[in-house]
Amino acid sequence: MVHKRMRVPAAFAAGLLAAGALTLLGASPAVNASAECADTHGHQDSAARGRPGSTGHDRNEISDAQAAQMNADLRAKVAKAAGQRGDLAAPAAGGTINVVFHVVQNTSGTGALSDATIAKQIQVLNQGFAGVEAPGVAANTGFKFVLQQTKRYTNSTWFNGGADTAGTERKMKTATRVGTAATLNVWSVDIDGFGFATFPNWYAGDPKMDGVVIDYATVPGGSEVNFNLGKTLTHETGHWMGLWHTFQGGCTATNDEVADTPAQSSSSSGCPQGRDSCSLSGVDPIHNYMDYSYDSCYNQFTPGQNTRMQNAWTAYRSGK
Ligand SMILES: [Zn+2]
Repeated sequence: MVHKRMRVPAAFAAGLLAAGALTLLGASPAVNASAECADTHGHQDSAARGRPGSTGHDRNEISDAQAAQMNADLRAKVAKAAGQRGDLAAPAAGGTINVVFHVVQNTSGTGALSDATIAKQIQVLNQGFAGVEAPGVAANTGFKFVLQQTKRYTNSTWFNGGADTAGTERKMKTATRVGTAATLNVWSVDIDGFGFATFPNWYAGDPKMDGVVIDYATVPGGSEVNFNLGKTLTHETGHWMGLWHTFQGGCTATNDEVADTPAQSSSSSGCPQGRDSCSLSGVDPIHNYMDYSYDSCYNQFTPGQNTRMQNAWTAYRSGK
């Protein structure tokens, strides 16, 4: 069976725009996040990392009109929140995030993950958000993920690529999702890419779809060579917390709307030490969880990304 694996559908504008707007409270969010841009990145990245013959594409593309509408809604929410609290730009200090892990397997038993594997996966997630993989460099976000519940299902339609189809994804999530905007729901299935996530600002309009989907082979000890240390979940949870890819926007001053992640023209493959794909200052952030590098290359979120996640958490998820 031929698969294409990519880490996530290209992030798009709205979610990150949201975080960008929060980070830049008081300033005019200079974001040019078009669907075309996200699409280009998605295809480019999957081409670099996909398996021979793969034909997958980013299913989360949005039009410019949709992006504009979402941005307008976002700005309004940010303005309202700032008026109520006045301190949105001041980062929170993390918090406890309950995780509900939905393990889907097919009728042959493929996809079954042991409790020990899930525990290890949560541990990897916590290490990433605690910044322990690059001491003194990586941000310690203060977010602590706690496994609240593991739910198991045998459903070949859901498991065998079904989550790549919008209708099936919706059925699966609607039937199984639990909790609030602050509950991280994770589904492990067999999908074309490595995983995909919803952005924080989508929750209000479509709460049942909220969460992260990962390919079951990306968990610690899984079969996805170079991507089986469990850091796909770290990357996807970064999106769920409001982060864009570090290569969002390419070689532009704003790029991913995070100041301490240098611009990069495209995603990285492998672990290309010293890669410097833009003439702007700084080498490419190949060790950042929001690039596409190998799991073994990943070791950090930056302080700027941390601030962005704290803001998005406060605005869209905490207590909601
Ligand atoms: Zn991604």
